[in-house]
Amino acid sequence: DATLKINNQDYLIVDGRKGLVIINPEDSTIKYYRDASDRIQQFRDKYQELKDLPAETKDGRVVTLLANLEMPEEVPTIKEHGASGIGLYRTEFFYMNRVDLPSEEEQFEAYKSVAEQMNPKPVTIRTLDIGGDKFLSSLEIPKEMYPFLGWRAIRFCFERPDIFKTQLRAILRASVFGKIKMMYPMISGPSDLRRANSILSEVKQNLKDEGIAFDASLQVGVMIEVPSAAMTADMLAKEAKFFSLGTNDLIQYTLAVDRVNEQTADLYEPGHPGVLRLIKQTIDAAHKVNIPVSICGEMANEPNLVLILLGLNLDELSMSPLSILQIKNLIRSINHKDTVELARKVLELSTGQEVEEFSKSALKKLAPHVVSAEQGDEEK
Ligand code: PEP
Ligand code: MG
Repeated sequence: DATLKINNQDYLIVDGRKGLVIINPEDSTIKYYRDASDRIQQFRDKYQELKDLPAETKDGRVVTLLANLEMPEEVPTIKEHGASGIGLYRTEFFYMNRVDLPSEEEQFEAYKSVAEQMNPKPVTIRTLDIGGDKFLSSLEIPKEMYPFLGWRAIRFCFERPDIFKTQLRAILRASVFGKIKMMYPMISGPSDLRRANSILSEVKQNLKDEGIAFDASLQVGVMIEVPSAAMTADMLAKEAKFFSLGTNDLIQYTLAVDRVNEQTADLYEPGHPGVLRLIKQTIDAAHKVNIPVSICGEMANEPNLVLILLGLNLDELSMSPLSILQIKNLIRSINHKDTVELARKVLELSTGQEVEEFSKSALKKLAPHVVSAEQGDEEK
C-alpha cells in the first residue's frame, strides 16, 4: 500500500537491510543513514584490491565465486565486483509487470547481450521459475492454497511447453555468443529431469532442421532445491553436468517453513541438521561422479555458513555481487582444513541454533577481521 502513503516529491530513505521505507525523515535520521551509507561504502572499497585475485584458501583450495543476476542492467556491477561468471541468471523478470509474454527474439537479445559481456566467463541461465512468490502478470494463474507446492517452475513449463520451448530456443540461440550453461528449477527427481531434457532435445532438433546455430555441448544442470532431489542426487548426478543448491527453497521445503511468512521466520534455519545433511549428501553424490556443485541461495552470503559449506567441499558460490569481495576476503584468510574440521563438528550438532552459534564462534576464531556482511560493520 506504499502508493497510498507516499506522495510525489516526498523524501524517502529505503533501508533494504531492515526492509524499511522512511517517508520524510527528520534531519537526524537522514544524518544517521548518510553516515551508515558512507561506512558501508568504505567497507566495500577496502576489498577492491582483491578483485583480480583468486578465491583461494591459505592452504590452496580454490573456490569459484559467481554472481546472481536478475536484470541484464546488473552486468557492469557484477564485473566491477570481480565475479568469475554468473551462477544464477533468474529469468522471471522478463515475464513480470507486463501484459504480454516475452518473445523469443526479446529473450534471445537479452541472453546474447549478457553472454557477450561476460564472455569467456560462464553465464548460468535458469529456466523460468514462475509461481510460488513470483507471478506472471500476463497469464491467469489460478490462486492456489499452497502456491509454493503447486503450479510452479518446471511444473508450469511442462504444462505450457509453448512458453518453455520459446525460452529454450532463445537460450540455445544465444549459446553461440558466449559460455552459456542452463539449469532447471524445482526438479524433484530423475523423471522431471528426463522430461525437461526430452523437450530440450526436441527444441535442439527443430533448430538443427532450421539450420540455426547453437552450442551443441551446452551444459545442463539441475537445481537442488526440493528435498527429494537431494535424496536422489546420486541418480540425478549421472544425468546432469552440474548441481546448483537452491537453499532458499531447500530450507523452506525441508523444514516445512514458508520462506516469505514473517510469522515463521524464526523457524527458517539454514543450519538445521536436516538441511546440512541434504547439502552434504548432494555434494558427496556429485563428487562421486566428478560433477561440480554450486550454491546460489542466500546462504552463500553468510560468512559463518560459508565456512561450513567450504568444509563440505562445495566448489562454487553464487551470490549478490555486492557480497563477492567480502566472501573472497574470508576465503583468502582461512585454511580449508580448518573448515573441514568445523563441518565435521557441526554435523554432530543436533539443532540449528547450536550450528549457528558454533559456526559464528568459529568464524571469530578463524577470521577475526571478518564480520557479517549483513551488518555492514567495520572490520574489528
Ligand atoms: C533458491 O531457491 O535458493 C534460489 C536461488 O532460487 P529462488 O530464490 O529464485 O527461488
Ligand atoms: Mg528456488
